[in-house]
Amino acid sequence: MQWTKQGQEYDTESEMILQKYKSAGRIAIFGGGILGRDLAPLLESYHIFGGFIDNSPEKQQNGIDGKKVWDASEYLSQYPNAWIVIAATLEHTGEIAEQLGKFGKRMGEDVWEYGEFTRKVFPILSFYYFKKLYVELAQICVTERCTLRCQKCAHACNYVPISADDMPLEEVKKSADCFFENVDFVKEFVLIGGEPLLYKRLEEAIAYIGERYRKQMLLFAVTTNGTITPDDTILGLCRKYDVTIRVSDYSATLPKLKKQYGALYKKLQGIHTLVWDTDDTDSWYDYGFESVDHGSDPEILMDVFDRCKTPCREIRGNRYYYCVMARSVSENMKRYVGMEDYFDLSGEADKKHLFEFEMGYSDKGYLDMCRFCRGAEAVNHRIPAAIQERRQ
Ligand code: SF4
Ligand code: SF4
Repeated sequence: MQWTKQGQEYDTESEMILQKYKSAGRIAIFGGGILGRDLAPLLESYHIFGGFIDNSPEKQQNGIDGKKVWDASEYLSQYPNAWIVIAATLEHTGEIAEQLGKFGKRMGEDVWEYGEFTRKVFPILSFYYFKKLYVELAQICVTERCTLRCQKCAHACNYVPISADDMPLEEVKKSADCFFENVDFVKEFVLIGGEPLLYKRLEEAIAYIGERYRKQMLLFAVTTNGTITPDDTILGLCRKYDVTIRVSDYSATLPKLKKQYGALYKKLQGIHTLVWDTDDTDSWYDYGFESVDHGSDPEILMDVFDRCKTPCREIRGNRYYYCVMARSVSENMKRYVGMEDYFDLSGEADKKHLFEFEMGYSDKGYLDMCRFCRGAEAVNHRIPAAIQERRQ
């Protein structure tokens, strides 16, 4: 989206949302599956979680994650004004919206579709009501070197020689400082690569960020391809700062790694670990950076950008990039397109401008790299995950 009234883009919409929220006071989640369970801790951290609703008698009987699960009519007779977020597939969202309509609840009034709520309504609520600038996902690429060399790596790390320089530790610290001086709360903050366990100063990076900023994150994570087992010092720091190890398990494509993954999971016992299961990791999206060219018409590029809605931000020193893929692919493929497409976090940034940037506003309304990217269309271009190229 292109800025037309910078600093005031959400003034009207936020007033409407706040007005509706004031009479609600609590937010329930309809659906106790993956989406609902992912959203609940975020609402809890803002003290606005109003409970789970689900049609499943089993869930109503057993609860979810130790929490009561309500039947819709029981919940709404007790909390008629509550907001409800439908955490379900789009197909089921329609059915549930209809069910809630019988109780007088209306989509866009006091019922929200998951994507609309998490991408728009919640950030607005956080910024304008709770006075906290909220970001869903931010990453620091501490290194772009990797132990694997996957075709179509989303960060183009397959183009990076194993001898390349990593981000200096001072730059990692500056990135975290710039980010947390301006952003009040992030749902997930990730140290990523390449393979971050190749980064020689990872311990210091975790300790620095964990010590200063842990309270400003819901999840603090390190994402690894699982080929390196972290040492005891790293694991000690993971325990101390409640760091989640996110493992991309490529054993479906690379069966030679099965033994390594087995040893890794054993070592990670007692550490919060999230594994991308085989269904996720045996195929990826091809964003088309090596072949796509939409041309230079701004209208087309704005359309590509607006439909994309990537949540993956990146911080490199004072530079806050809207799309980690755009920056890393451009740089790692040595194309250097759109290197200026960032928000400058040096000094104290104007919070409203930063909020709007976070929501997708900019002077141009797109990133230069969107020209070479399928964006939302990438879901229709699946490729096998982690197919290896020969290292030159
Ligand atoms: S494991 Fe593969 S996809 Fe992940 S950073 Fe390395 S090369 Fe890229
Ligand atoms: S369309 Fe643009 S913002 Fe979306 S992933 Fe591609 S480069 Fe990034």
